[in-house]
Amino acid sequence: MNNFDAIVIGSGFGGSMAAKKLVDAGLRVLMLERGDWVHRSIEENWGAKGPIELSDFYDKSSMLYVPVGGNKPTMGMYACVGGPSVFYGGVSFRFREQDFEKNEQIEGKDAQGWPLAYNDIEKYYSQAEAILNISGETGIDPTEPYRSTPLPQHAPTLAKISQKVKASAQKLGMHPFSLPLAINYEDTNRNKCINCKTCDTFACAISAKNDLATTLIPQLIAKGMQLYCNMVVTKLNYKNGRLTSVDCISKSDKKRYTFHAEKFILAAGALGTPHLLLSSGLQHFNPGGQVVGHYLMRHMNSIVFGIFPGTADKEGRFHKQLAILDYYFGHPDFPNLNKLGSLQQMPTPPASIVENELKGIVGKVLSPAVKLLSGLLAIVEDQPQYNNGLAIDANNKDIFGLPRPIINHSYSIRDITAMKILTKEGKRIMKGAGALSHYVHDIRTFSHAVGTVRMGFDKRTSALDENCQFRGIENLYVTDGSVMPTSAALNPSLTIAANALRVGELITK
Ligand SMILES: Cc1cc2nc3c(=O)[nH]c(=O)nc-3n(C[C@H](O)[C@H](O)[C@H](O)COP(=O)(O)OP(=O)(O)OC[C@H]3O[C@@H](n4cnc5c(N)ncnc54)[C@H](O)[C@@H]3O)c2cc1C
Ligand code: SF4
Repeated sequence: MNNFDAIVIGSGFGGSMAAKKLVDAGLRVLMLERGDWVHRSIEENWGAKGPIELSDFYDKSSMLYVPVGGNKPTMGMYACVGGPSVFYGGVSFRFREQDFEKNEQIEGKDAQGWPLAYNDIEKYYSQAEAILNISGETGIDPTEPYRSTPLPQHAPTLAKISQKVKASAQKLGMHPFSLPLAINYEDTNRNKCINCKTCDTFACAISAKNDLATTLIPQLIAKGMQLYCNMVVTKLNYKNGRLTSVDCISKSDKKRYTFHAEKFILAAGALGTPHLLLSSGLQHFNPGGQVVGHYLMRHMNSIVFGIFPGTADKEGRFHKQLAILDYYFGHPDFPNLNKLGSLQQMPTPPASIVENELKGIVGKVLSPAVKLLSGLLAIVEDQPQYNNGLAIDANNKDIFGLPRPIINHSYSIRDITAMKILTKEGKRIMKGAGALSHYVHDIRTFSHAVGTVRMGFDKRTSALDENCQFRGIENLYVTDGSVMPTSAALNPSLTIAANALRVGELITK
């Protein structure tokens, strides 16, 4: 059968959550995913080749060309069933109420706020938290938004190093609280987390992380959804104002396939989605088509590593546990900036990651010293800028015939200024926790990419309407991180999930 009620492209947060609503409504759904299932074993997932960029799921068959802003001039894509959720850190924040409000200081002259208010999405945050069984702690963070339901799980006890970081932040007058995490601590029907030293950037070998491949996708398949993995979508076919079908190439048998449906949900990620729209020429049918691929955001991310006099984490325990949002909406010493960002604990990095980052002898010499480190990740809300984005080079094609994606991204002066203020606070906290010195590591990946096909009321400056329908093509919806008009300063997955549930529900009506 190659005729469906709905085709969902991409099995990450945007695809899986939208698919849930369609499957629950009884629609015949086909999900197409270019990656494979991640097999679970301690050797494969927690060994030297466990980190995503060293694994087979860092897909180099369609390289991203990044002349400006990457950590390398060419970068692979994260591709597997469940998308990067399988390798993610599980941090599952709701954006704050004000994140959905107009903020010209962030949005600049291209002001294009959210066409939603927090209250429009609140119940879907609750649904997403239930699906992902989020743990955490409420009632402490001063920026915490309203919630209609409690978090499904309690926060786990803190590691000793986390207790030191918490005490240090509290002494400085801050309000540290447990990170909301998509990790199983309480469900006795599944493996519970054993607080190992991997997690962020690794798949969980015992499936205790509540990633989509472990939780939601198997449930959708059990309810009748078809999932074809290793299936690269190469073209979206258009006729008379509608999509009719998608063309694919299977990585397994190298054959070409075409699938037909009534409705199409594009959720190939904030880089994959504009890539497919532009390579299929669909921007020409949209009154806001000239902005497709633009306004790419990815947060500004830097880790403040405290360098401790001995092993920082003597227990050898998972300690990505705390968040500090006291400077989320600014800092009293810098009244001109009304938004800065969040601080989140980052555990001691595995030696294999350091050796990969610092190639050759430098990495080999320095990797044993990583045990002295424990850190705080500073996430700054980056401004949506027209010149940041993804374009295609039609003259250069990959093995699937897809044109080369070219990405350019530069941070604004505001982004950089906000980061300086936030990392200074991070250094103060780590010093109080016992660090002798610090080292700041800038992250230049696109793991938090959002914003390239944004939703909005203005059809000239946004390609999607407020229901994430692609203007000009009545049966095409986008539900991944591309849709976000601003990035907030919090990890994007729960907001992508909540919005996809919202849009999935609308599609079934
Ligand atoms: C190491 C790491 C850690 C992270 N940690 C966190 C965290 O702790 N908290 C958080 O909120 N966020 C985290 N993120 C970010 C989070 O994973 C992303 O924001 C989120 O997965 C984006 O969801 P999405 O639906 O937009 O796209 P994705 O989840 O990227 O899904 C897109 C899917 O589409 C598939 N695809 C792409 N092109 C095609 C094609 N042509 N044909 C078929 N399939 C295609 C891809 O293979 C992918 O599976 C992390 C990311 C990484 C890489
Ligand atoms: S910390 Fe827990 S959830 Fe994360 S990889 Fe280890 S066992 Fe799995």
